[in-house]
Amino acid sequence: MSSVTHLSCTSRAALLRRLNRLAPRVVFGTLAETYRRCGRPGCHCADGPKHGPHLSLSFRGPDGRTQAFYVPQALQAEIRAGVAAWQEVQQMVRVLGDLHREQLWAARRPRRGRGRP
Ligand SMILES: [Zn+2]
Repeated sequence: MSSVTHLSCTSRAALLRRLNRLAPRVVFGTLAETYRRCGRPGCHCADGPKHGPHLSLSFRGPDGRTQAFYVPQALQAEIRAGVAAWQEVQQMVRVLGDLHREQLWAARRPRRGRGRP
């Protein structure tokens, strides 16, 4: 993944274009993979490799409590891409904030010969 340092070298227009592409795909949350034993007699998982990975997505809801959801196999690729997109969007928004702040400061820099044509 691109670092913030790398992103700060990117132009504001390029950041906005990438943000526009990524924003519709973001998924907020943290992914966790678990492996389980099913408990069926004679299953390989009893003394061999467990079943998995099972993917779950967890996040803090508006009530402040953490919620976790099982991610079905068919959605795993999209959810993984969405969580990665969320993280990249966070970094890009941070860089955009820094760039905008620098622009505002630069625009207020006192000019020589102020008041003269
Ligand atoms: Zn099993």
